[in-house]
Amino acid sequence: MYKTLKQVSDALSNGKVTSSEITNNIIQLSEKYNQELNCFTTITKEKAQELSNESDKRRKENKVSSPIDGIPMSIKDVISTKGIRTTAGSKMLENYVPEYSATVYQKLIDNGGILIGKNNCDPFAFGGSGENSGYGPTKNPVCISKVPGGSSSGSASSVKAGLSLFSIGTDTGGSIRQPASLTGLSGLKLTYGRNSRYGLIAMASSLDTPGILANTVEDIAIVEDLIKGFDPKDSTTKKPENDYSFVEAISKDIKGLKIGLPKEYFIDGMDIDVKNAVLEAAKKYEKLGCTIEEVSLPHTEYALPVYYLIVPSEISSNMGRYDGFRYGNSDENSKDINEYIKNSRAVLEDEVKRRIIIGTFALSKGYSDQYYKKAMQVRSLIKKDFDEVYKKVDVILTPTSPTVAWDIGEKVNDPLKMYLADIFTVTANLTGMPGLSINAGYKAITPRKQDVDFEGKVCSKLPIGMQLFAPMWREDLLMSLGHTFQKAYPET
Ligand code: GLN
Repeated sequence: MYKTLKQVSDALSNGKVTSSEITNNIIQLSEKYNQELNCFTTITKEKAQELSNESDKRRKENKVSSPIDGIPMSIKDVISTKGIRTTAGSKMLENYVPEYSATVYQKLIDNGGILIGKNNCDPFAFGGSGENSGYGPTKNPVCISKVPGGSSSGSASSVKAGLSLFSIGTDTGGSIRQPASLTGLSGLKLTYGRNSRYGLIAMASSLDTPGILANTVEDIAIVEDLIKGFDPKDSTTKKPENDYSFVEAISKDIKGLKIGLPKEYFIDGMDIDVKNAVLEAAKKYEKLGCTIEEVSLPHTEYALPVYYLIVPSEISSNMGRYDGFRYGNSDENSKDINEYIKNSRAVLEDEVKRRIIIGTFALSKGYSDQYYKKAMQVRSLIKKDFDEVYKKVDVILTPTSPTVAWDIGEKVNDPLKMYLADIFTVTANLTGMPGLSINAGYKAITPRKQDVDFEGKVCSKLPIGMQLFAPMWREDLLMSLGHTFQKAYPET
């Protein structure tokens, strides 16, 4: 069986397999395993079959030029797909069919990508476990009693189970990197402004970034080269001064690169196996010719409180549009306008309501200086910490998440505990810098009866993710460090 996008792409080019064969097989498996994993809100069977036939036709006529032509992919359900239901993981948008497509999705379709389905996710991307979705929790294919991480839960679950070769997710506070970490995949959060946000259902607009979950860093590079770039429809996208090919970047030499280990990211209370696996990975980088240095990011302790003030504030403003008039659920039986708005919004999931309430309070008259403005000031201090550290080292290495995947249901009734899982990822979004999560090792577990993978095999170890940060626009460093590690240590 093919494990990576690259392998499928090569097999298609060599005529070993056709896109329709691969697509039909994956559709069949998706219909079967989705019942357990719940990683798709919609499986686009007919669309996939139609697109794969067209791809095979192009190939016969020698008209294929893109590495993803004919490759099955999936898209997180907060990303608009014209004519295809886009629920955002919320009951509010259960029947919403967009009139237009997000730029990142359109570019993939233009490159011959085959849409298998829309991925389940936490509603409007609010969450870190996949359990908040209005369509039920997604399961982790490595161990189905565990969460796959979130909010790009279905993206991670489908790619890990082989039901798509890559998925486009979004990352506002860790939603690509954290599920990649908990399922053992590679996940890239880009520099803010590198990929277009046009057509994304907005969460917190100054932090939202669409990016990629895939089996390898090489696969990520292939996809990113096709979707990145300035978009006239998103004024926050930029043309980087020194643009480069992500695929070329993966094979750059990493010898001599300086890696910083921030002491604030290796804290008491975190899973000791996670800590050790990441420190072990640092030693492996030393063997590969890098140097390791301890660094300090003194404002780290404020990152999470700052994030959980700024994000709900932006959310409360972005969620105003779901009033029953413009988008989504509307309660036609209400007697007056107040009841109409109230009843139309009643379907919003608990976590969505919680964030609207917190954000509205933080922005209210008399409080916004105290909370929002203050948080924005501390956000600048956090950014300064990183600017200082990047004067000394090229990149920063940390754990992606303080723990491995936890049991479904374990933290749902304790939002604070859930938010703590984001402690190492939110800084990339507050500063705008890029972050990559790849697998560093495993934590052995004593399997209980329910600890089996999606095919029913006993699960005795859970993946541990590590995260690499780089300065703005320097994803090239992340690509070469990630790829070199995966080539040197294929068992991880
Ligand atoms: N877990 C974080 C949150 O709940 C991240 C969400 C995201 O990146 N979309 O806000």
